[in-house]
Amino acid sequence: MSEPIPYGKQNITQDDIEAVMEVLQSDYLTQGPKILEFEQAFATYIGCKYAVAVSNGTAALHLCAMSLGVEKGDKVITTPITFAASANCVRYCGGDVVFADINPETYLLDVNKVKELLESSPKGTYRGLIPVDFAGRAIDLEAYRKLADEFDLWIIEDACHAPGGYFIDSKGKHQNCGNGNYADLAIFSFHPVKHIACGEGGMITTNDENLYHKLLQLRTHGITKNEGLYVNSASFAAGEDSDSYPGWYMEMQNLGYNYRLTDFQAVLGSSQLKRADDGITRRREIAEVYDRAFKNNSFVKGQSGVINGHAYHLYVIEVENRLGLYNYLRANNIFAQIHYIPCHLMPYYKEFGWKVDDMPNAEEYYKHCISLPMYPTLTNEEQKYVINKILNFLNNEN
Ligand SMILES: *Cc1c(COP(=O)(O)O)cnc(C)c1O
Repeated sequence: MSEPIPYGKQNITQDDIEAVMEVLQSDYLTQGPKILEFEQAFATYIGCKYAVAVSNGTAALHLCAMSLGVEKGDKVITTPITFAASANCVRYCGGDVVFADINPETYLLDVNKVKELLESSPKGTYRGLIPVDFAGRAIDLEAYRKLADEFDLWIIEDACHAPGGYFIDSKGKHQNCGNGNYADLAIFSFHPVKHIACGEGGMITTNDENLYHKLLQLRTHGITKNEGLYVNSASFAAGEDSDSYPGWYMEMQNLGYNYRLTDFQAVLGSSQLKRADDGITRRREIAEVYDRAFKNNSFVKGQSGVINGHAYHLYVIEVENRLGLYNYLRANNIFAQIHYIPCHLMPYYKEFGWKVDDMPNAEEYYKHCISLPMYPTLTNEEQKYVINKILNFLNNEN
């Protein structure tokens, strides 16, 4: 293969380009009509009431933590096997991150470990949970909701890896990742390695009207233009005796940020969203081919078999000689990647006292995991090449 094969890659079509061009030539580059169009299309796709577009997934997490009122000293539980942003949003608000270990079979935050944590401290010790649909595998939020209700916690679902993913609840119903039926808020990222690419971009989804209005305000400096919410009088606003607010008036009511998405990014998102289902279908096909190729190979530990609702942002296997395989693949123009270095062992989090052996499942997983090329435009021929190289290395190694 002459072209390098990365682990993930965006797909920009002529339709995408034309949609962006049109917005570039329109009156609104930002704060225009394409934002609401994208939000509504995304909410429909996910099956939730409200969606708020923001500048990236990290901003989405930050606004979620803010809107839920995270403050200094508040304890929030998340997984160490995630991108650091899932935890960092708690720190932005001065809260404390408490990691709980993963289930080694699913690689997801282990609900039993979370339960143990909650039960080992007085009620009220923890404020919230941030489970992650890691790799695109939908986490069972019904189980988390039960815990959250019992211990009076909120839930932010980090669904960056899982637009189009779902789990099946105890009534046999499909629950789309981010649909807000169990979590208070969910977040997505539109970074190019994710399913839908805006360049940079993010989305928050929810069914909670109050949180929705808070988020809209926080996204744009904490400013509202909703008359019904004004604190100051109409006369103050007008600068003279008046029963009505003048056209220019607005109020900054909270300390918000500029976390807006631009219209040309939003229209790119809308255009990409139209192909989202095709992308998932292709990702599941690719996963099936990998599953079959590695099923009978004792050197590969993976999550084989059909996993209902997996959105396959990543296809992860575990191998004994991970470093060797990684380097061998690179030498063959295949750029596999490692997801993730356990968050609790990042030097920043070690300063809070986290240390080696705190999360044995996550740490063992980290020693062996490798994410293989997984994106809709990966060709059958390229995938065959990747599989042959992997099997070649593993069979000669062992
Ligand atoms: C990508 C990602 C984020 C952050 O999104 P950005 O848009 O890059 O800020 C957060 N959590 C997870 C799990 C991610 O994969």
